[in-house]
Amino acid sequence: MRVLKFGGTSMGATPERLAQIARRVAEVRRQGYATVVVVSARGDSTDRLVEEALTAAAVPPPRELDQLLATGEARSAALLAMALDDMGVSALSLLGGQAGFEVSGAHADGRIARIDATKVRQALARGQVAVVAGFQGVNEAGDVITLGRGGSDTSAVALAVELDAECCEIYTDVDGIHSADPRLVPDAQPIPSVRNSVMAEMAYAGARVLHTRAVELAGRAGVDIRVRSAFNRRPGTVVVSDWKGTQMLESDDRVIAVAHDPDSARITMGAASSDAPPFGAEGFSLLAEASVTVDVVTRFTDRSGRHGWDFTVARKDVDAAMSVLTAFPCEVAVDARVAKVSVVGAGLLSDPRCAGRMLTALVASGIEPLSIAASQARISATVRDADCARAVSALHEEFLLGAVASPGVQTGAGAGAGTGAQGAVQAGENGRLGALAPTP
Ligand code: ASP
Ligand code: MG
Repeated sequence: MRVLKFGGTSMGATPERLAQIARRVAEVRRQGYATVVVVSARGDSTDRLVEEALTAAAVPPPRELDQLLATGEARSAALLAMALDDMGVSALSLLGGQAGFEVSGAHADGRIARIDATKVRQALARGQVAVVAGFQGVNEAGDVITLGRGGSDTSAVALAVELDAECCEIYTDVDGIHSADPRLVPDAQPIPSVRNSVMAEMAYAGARVLHTRAVELAGRAGVDIRVRSAFNRRPGTVVVSDWKGTQMLESDDRVIAVAHDPDSARITMGAASSDAPPFGAEGFSLLAEASVTVDVVTRFTDRSGRHGWDFTVARKDVDAAMSVLTAFPCEVAVDARVAKVSVVGAGLLSDPRCAGRMLTALVASGIEPLSIAASQARISATVRDADCARAVSALHEEFLLGAVASPGVQTGAGAGAGTGAQGAVQAGENGRLGALAPTP
């Protein structure tokens, strides 16, 4: 059994691209594998559909927007099945609902509750390639619900889990996961493997090559993900669900990648007047109810001893956050021009030098970190968004994540990664995500 997922950049927009993908799938099928393919919309067609919706209505109804967006993946699936058929490989395309994806939750933010993969299994039993439209399913009422931008990775992993596949192969236009975004850091290195838990941190910290939920699901279900290029034979990166490698003992490199999220906003809640209820716990639960995730949270005390809070949210969530925050009797400041840069790895707090090296490297490059949060797996700092690219390069260099580090290049305390540096790509498939998220 092979479960392959082809994303927008690999599906491309041209007939040649489609034929190229079809040949790759046909090759797998001809090797005798039961072959399941999950596709997303071609090229940037989902963005085009969002734009088209906005020409029809200023605020498209969420249900209708989902109906429309789901057609991008539907087209890909039908076209790929036709192209396979044309090569003499029998194939059956299925919409998410037809493939048995039962999805709960709000439009544009569905969660896969269950998959009844009967039709997929029947197609496989007939020797057909099952080509499934990703990013979508139907709810109990039979309405189409999409999974959120980038969600077809999650469709693919969920189907791999349901079909008991050991691995879900995600084909994209980059050679796997890199130690930083290769568009920012030319020296970024592809990595052979990364633990699921570390990849989950990287995805959350802004590495957009994989949908965060796909990584989490694969980790919980014990499925590996292989990220590789659709256009060459390189093995790409395996995101290993259950790390058994001895290389992870004490000698393991701590920082393996620099991730960045340019679409962050920093919110500061000033101290409330002394008789007002404090923001604290109540505020954070209200934000959670509004589905706003907060990160890099700091509590500070002003001169008169009153407490305020400082945290980041995704830029797309600023409006939702503000509708909650303005109810509190304190001054709210929003700075939407920040980026979050993170070093990601394992045991970062067990090596007390990590945070110091991170700060020193930023400051040495003339970059002022605005706020910081640390955990064993990730140290994140917010910086002005104009400083983002330089911050990523400075950290990539500080933690020796580039090609074989020459002694002259070592800037940090002690040797670090050296060769075999590992990390997270942010380029590829979902590089455009934040900016073009559909209007809710
Ligand atoms: N086509 C959808 C999007 O552009 C889903 C995906 O690509 O995974 O967000
Ligand atoms: Mg994607």
